[in-house]
Amino acid sequence: MPRPTPRPGSRVQDRREADQRRSDRYEWRAWYKTARWRSLRLRQLQAEPLCRFCLEHGDLTPATVCDHVEPHRGDEGKFWVGPFQSLCPRHHNRDKQRAEHGREVLTFGADGWPKDRD
Ligand SMILES: [Zn+2]
Repeated sequence: MPRPTPRPGSRVQDRREADQRRSDRYEWRAWYKTARWRSLRLRQLQAEPLCRFCLEHGDLTPATVCDHVEPHRGDEGKFWVGPFQSLCPRHHNRDKQRAEHGREVLTFGADGWPKDRD
């Protein structure tokens, strides 16, 4: 059954437009789901298997997050070229969020993959 087209100005229409705007703004979030990123991340974690921040405190923690040292902010060049560092999710989520003053930063789950919000 075809879904009825929502009337302009209806709540459904508003919500769809909001979703569209959000996905445009965070288009780069989809880059994390590509095979290209998967292999890049793997290479980084193999080259540097321990969390860099933990290591500074003498802790040996397996890293699962391939983090952009410099925030890419949706810049495709920076996103793919790096430089990268390996972090544990705890350090990525806590210290990086703080370092970037509450700007849009991905939160990573224990498995080292970005968590989708909502
Ligand atoms: Zn750490």
